[in-house]
Amino acid sequence: MFVSTLDTTIEFLKGVGPKRAELFQKELGIFTYADLLNFYPFRYIDRTRFYKINELDPELPYVQILGRITSKEQIGEKHKKRLVARLTDDTGSIELVWFQSLKWVDENVVKGKVYIVFGKPTVFNGSFSISHPELENYPRPATITGNLMLQPVYHSTEKLKKFFLDSKGIQKLQTSLIEQHLKEITETVPPYILEKYQMVGRKEALLNIHFPKDVKALKAAERRLKFEELFFIQLQLLHNKQLREMRFKGHLFDVVGEKVNTFYKEILPFELTGAQKRVIKEIRLDTQRGIQMNRLVQGDVGSGKTAVALMSMLLANDNGYQACMMAPTEILARQHYQSIVDLLKDRLVKVAILTGSSTKKQRTQLHKELEAGEIDILVGTHALIEDKVVFKNLGLVVIDEQHRFGVEQRAKLWRKNVVPPHILVMTATPIPRTLAMTLYGDLDVSVIDELPVGRKPIETRHLYEGQRLRMFGFMKEEIKKGRQVYIVYPLIKESEKLDLLHLEAGIEQLSYQFPLPDYQISIVHGKMTNADKQYEMQRFIDHKTQIMVATTVIEVGVNVPNASVMVIENAERFGLSQLHQLRGRVGRGAEQSFCILMSGNKLSADGKLRLETMVKTNNGFEISEIDLQLRGPGDISGTQQSGVLELKLADLAKDQLILQEARSTVIETLSEDPNLENPQNSLLRTYLAKRSRGIAFDKIS
Ligand code: ADP
Ligand code: MG
Repeated sequence: MFVSTLDTTIEFLKGVGPKRAELFQKELGIFTYADLLNFYPFRYIDRTRFYKINELDPELPYVQILGRITSKEQIGEKHKKRLVARLTDDTGSIELVWFQSLKWVDENVVKGKVYIVFGKPTVFNGSFSISHPELENYPRPATITGNLMLQPVYHSTEKLKKFFLDSKGIQKLQTSLIEQHLKEITETVPPYILEKYQMVGRKEALLNIHFPKDVKALKAAERRLKFEELFFIQLQLLHNKQLREMRFKGHLFDVVGEKVNTFYKEILPFELTGAQKRVIKEIRLDTQRGIQMNRLVQGDVGSGKTAVALMSMLLANDNGYQACMMAPTEILARQHYQSIVDLLKDRLVKVAILTGSSTKKQRTQLHKELEAGEIDILVGTHALIEDKVVFKNLGLVVIDEQHRFGVEQRAKLWRKNVVPPHILVMTATPIPRTLAMTLYGDLDVSVIDELPVGRKPIETRHLYEGQRLRMFGFMKEEIKKGRQVYIVYPLIKESEKLDLLHLEAGIEQLSYQFPLPDYQISIVHGKMTNADKQYEMQRFIDHKTQIMVATTVIEVGVNVPNASVMVIENAERFGLSQLHQLRGRVGRGAEQSFCILMSGNKLSADGKLRLETMVKTNNGFEISEIDLQLRGPGDISGTQQSGVLELKLADLAKDQLILQEARSTVIETLSEDPNLENPQNSLLRTYLAKRSRGIAFDKIS
């Protein structure tokens, strides 16, 4: 195979050598010339602007001054020696000071010469000075990397700096790399696509990302490189999807039989919303195409995903297949199981549950029934995907709360059958479109964007600590009306001890405000055993307690329609999507529900925006967009294993348009030329061939 010079180990680049090469590898993951080229500046310093000396201000960051060295002298004794030079322009003069490398500086800074001086001005003894400024000859010599008007700034580390690989040192290496090897940079995106979107070639882009000719050239370079990043992610995702669809036949669910019909006509206690019907129709279409369905259903809390899941499972049953539903925690699994059993009441199908706490005896029995095909619907935790669990004929897997299941776990499910089951992934955490396209770009996405009719929007208030008594008063009123209340405290690993103290203090205050025997309180937190949690939760569900104090989101994943108030303590410490999830625990019954966000008086700008957003809107998708803007994708669940975080330039919050272009280009390309046989797509073919060697798709099947 052709090996590019750019694959040469970085050690051999002039000025690197073995020691620095080792550091580059360890500190920045740079192994080859190409890696260094792909190590982009994280910002640029504007060097188009020259400051006059009388314009200097201690508030200014780095500045650039053009002036003449009018004096130069070494002063001080031995260890305190320094070199002081005076730089003068037509508005005044300023001191330049060096404490190190005096000999070198003395030889290279020439009295009477004009220099471009660059540094951070500070005030010392009432006048301005710059210590350790950078000096450049004036006029700047013309090189291939141009007269740098925007100076690149690279990330570096303490260790690298010790070996002179600070930003400036890295810039030097980039310069020589580009000067010597620009010619060898090859195109990765087919030229017809570049033309279509009027994007610059790879050479020009890389040159300008490191050494922008001007702002316009930098923007063009950024756009091209962002496109490239997103384009290849989409190509990979959509190509995988296409392969999967070509290779795997899917079970045919072409009968809508007695089970679905009876459920719909006689059992379902409400009319489905338009959105629910639409999503069920999409699932129907998927499962009649003869390909394996991989569909993500996004729906806000309370949008009625369970009904959609159950209808789909019954559809599988009607066609002679088993179905299973997997939840991220035991509590949620139990709850799903319970609500299905409550609805079906032993009619139509046999439903069973399997979790980590199922006994050995239960398991043995269950395994037998499952293999014999006697169980139609199995609900459980990830215990479901253990190899011991064998289905007779698994046709559909519903995964609730996708983000907790990795790609690997999904793949494991596919292996459960010769023909892999259809997969329906449900998530109650709405994620922004751009993130969905990247995280779940190989899935089809349905959205339940409508709440059941008659549901009253939850009213949200933000109260400060000083208004706590008002909050207690309100709780009392609601409890008097027969309602129940959740109070959620943050419990974060880093501050766990302190958080637990707050929790205790909170509970003490609460038991003073809400004394026995009139008020009963359930307490559930992460440090308790499953059995204890279960017991406390059950008391709340059975309305034996009126108040549920809890710490984490998932522990309150219960459905208690009678609960009408959600109080969130230290609300400013929760992320937006968490707050939204928590709020979704109320508003499940017919009554008007409330969410009270308690916070201290001091709020950060972000914290304030989060609480304001919560008060302003109930729409999970809107909230998720703001969350992405505030936090970036890094903190949004599911992104960790997805590669989204390895994006060098593209920003899913800001580059929606580019992502859209990249994705639609890939869709178009693959539909016109599915096997990428057209010579104009040869670059893409090569890319995928290289990639697929590492993660052979067959492994998944
Ligand atoms: P989620 O999407 O959060 O999982 P659920 O499926 O738990 O929502 O539904 C929330 C509540 O709304 C449940 O009590 C459910 O019975 C009810 N529900 C679901 N769909 C409808 C509908 N179309 N009309 C009325 N109530 C509905
Ligand atoms: Mg649900």
